[in-house]
Amino acid sequence: MEQSSRGVNVINKQAFLQKIKQIRTATNKGARAPHKPLLLLYALGRYQQYGEILLPYKKTHPRLKHMLVEYGPPVKQVKTSNPFVRLKNDGIWEVTPDIDHRTNFSDRSLLDADIHASFTKEVLDLFAADPSAITEAAVAILDNHFPETYHEELLEEVGLHIEYGIRRYRKRDSAFRQKVLAAYGEQCCVCGFQAKLHDKVVGIEAAHIKWHQAYGPDEENNGLALCSLHHRLFDKGIFTIDDDKVRVASEATGKGTFQELVLDFDKKKIRKPASSLYLPSPEFIDWHVREVFKSYQAQ
Ligand SMILES: [Zn+2]
Repeated sequence: MEQSSRGVNVINKQAFLQKIKQIRTATNKGARAPHKPLLLLYALGRYQQYGEILLPYKKTHPRLKHMLVEYGPPVKQVKTSNPFVRLKNDGIWEVTPDIDHRTNFSDRSLLDADIHASFTKEVLDLFAADPSAITEAAVAILDNHFPETYHEELLEEVGLHIEYGIRRYRKRDSAFRQKVLAAYGEQCCVCGFQAKLHDKVVGIEAAHIKWHQAYGPDEENNGLALCSLHHRLFDKGIFTIDDDKVRVASEATGKGTFQELVLDFDKKKIRKPASSLYLPSPEFIDWHVREVFKSYQAQ
């Protein structure tokens, strides 16, 4: 933070985006902790859509809880009080009345004290002066914490509008895509789909098993060639791969061709890659089951 000539605290866009990129999330053993990123997206959305500055915990926590269930790892209990207060440590957030983040606080105590939170004054000044800081922060959060298949849905969920053209995502590793597609003969390893137009493969993507955002490597044994539909369903945890077989989450329901395109593949082997070295590594599959997959009833 700097002092302007008038003696008030200011933060410039670069410094703010740097703080956004350095948000500390509890990630031991590669566990996902999307609490702060989701809360930030929510707060950015409320500001952009409604000009809402002060977020009451009372109103925020059911929304955050919903987002954590939907976009977070499968957990038994979702806690929303910690990120609401601990985001203070990242230097862009404050709560009122103020709470020492080292003390014990709970859902109940935040509700009883009618705690509100907001971005700091400097950040709000920045948003007012340069609204592109809002959208660029949202893009940085999406890119750093969620695979691309989540982005549109999350923006819609929090009501954030990002003009076309600002979405400058990290250049994807095209070598990874080529390696993974080649390993599976350019076909979806679940349904076998392939379409080509003038020798160019259409609708087949290389999915990371352990997400790039969770430091999953760009190697064949951390990749699956999937059609666009199965890629989306896999990233969302509607199915996983276990012992080289498709396992569909028991919570997943659907209509129309859901039976043929999803349920009928349950317990079916995936297509074999060109070499057994390219088979999904148990280490990465374990991560996907633990952090993404919406569980199935073991049989
Ligand atoms: Zn497919």
